[in-house]
Amino acid sequence: MIHAPISEELFQRAQHSIPGGVNSPVRAFRAVGGNPRFMVSAKGPYMYDEDGNRYLDLINSWGPMILGHAAEVVNEAVIKAIPNSLSFGAPTRKEVEIAELIVSMMPSIEKVRMVNSGTEATMSAIRVARGFTGRDKIIKFEGCYHGHGDSFLISAGSGAITLGVPDSPGVTKGTANDTLTAPYNNLEAVQTLVDANKGQIAAIILEPVAGNMGLVTPAEGFLQGLRTLCDKEGIVLIFDEVMTGFRLSAGGAQQLYGVTPDMSTMGKIIGGGMPVGAYGGKKEIMEFVAPAGPVYQAGTLSGNPIAMAAGMAMLTYLKEHPEVYTQLEQTSGNMVAGMQRNLQKLGLNYTINRVGSMFSIFFTDKPVYDFESAKTSDTALFGRYFNGMLQRGVYLAPSQYEALFVSTAVTEELVEQYVQASFEALQEAVQ
Ligand code: PLP
Repeated sequence: MIHAPISEELFQRAQHSIPGGVNSPVRAFRAVGGNPRFMVSAKGPYMYDEDGNRYLDLINSWGPMILGHAAEVVNEAVIKAIPNSLSFGAPTRKEVEIAELIVSMMPSIEKVRMVNSGTEATMSAIRVARGFTGRDKIIKFEGCYHGHGDSFLISAGSGAITLGVPDSPGVTKGTANDTLTAPYNNLEAVQTLVDANKGQIAAIILEPVAGNMGLVTPAEGFLQGLRTLCDKEGIVLIFDEVMTGFRLSAGGAQQLYGVTPDMSTMGKIIGGGMPVGAYGGKKEIMEFVAPAGPVYQAGTLSGNPIAMAAGMAMLTYLKEHPEVYTQLEQTSGNMVAGMQRNLQKLGLNYTINRVGSMFSIFFTDKPVYDFESAKTSDTALFGRYFNGMLQRGVYLAPSQYEALFVSTAVTEELVEQYVQASFEALQEAVQ
């Protein structure tokens, strides 16, 4: 049994000085109950908390630690860069090199701009798409998360053509009116929105493999159908590859599925844990970005030399080691096979969605292909399972509506431990 009194005390203390005690909401464990663990260090597959407990980490900082924590190849690059100053606010050779590297890896990208987070990347990408098309509206999909930019905190409510309603106070009605939403994997709904807003849609943005409603895969023809529609209507197609870029393949989901968007947003993995994001796309669109063009976007710390050093090391490694993806595929496949055995033995309803090293287990007897179907999962059971796993030293994402991210540090032995711990935690959770 794992105890965490120091984490508990820190969480109490944090309530006084940090909203909700955390710097990003999901970390507060509210969806699963219990108190968050305060981490001190991590190496390879493990994280260690303030109480000295060790956890097998299956979130990996929500994706970026694809080579496991404190990977030497990334750490060494960072350590080497530090003595040369933490920031210049002026151009560097590394920025040129990393831009060239990203252009060489991501099929859709001819030019790329560095920013400091995924949120910045998506906010900037839609501003550029609006500037490029001269149109105001965007279409997003229910259950897709694109960071906390105002335009993305919207759900359209029932009826595909109704005006958006802000999900969060502080988002104006004006912003909501410009964001239309459709169910994921529903091309017909998108077509209806486009028809009802002829010549007004600047961009369609989506996670090409959705990871923010739990993992949901694109149905056969969905991405291609969006591509065709955008071509016909002059709409900028944006793939938000903040989670999938460089993870599902060296060229992201767009390479895996063979559909090339007009723009892509990235983050997390570039930087190997440092705060980095990026957006890029076709030359003719990216030429609209200042100072080349009229759409303003800037950042004091953008292209930060330490972050770029980490990013170069990470991306170069991924480009030169395609076996990473073979290993991740095999490890994740074995984890899922073990979970299928567990769930069958226990006679539980389940749907498992997986693409490469991202997967989610839904406790439902329905297939999960959009946000509505994801919501059929038994989230109370998930909460008990999550806490059972935490007690057994396995750190899962603290919400049903998140994916797991496997790193190359997960060995076959750890797969067995995960499967065994899951069996015990599930058995306890259903009692
Ligand atoms: N886009 C996607 C697909 C994401 O998953 C996230 C974050 O999880 C973001 C954008 C926002 O990135 P950030 O948290 O770095 O602002």
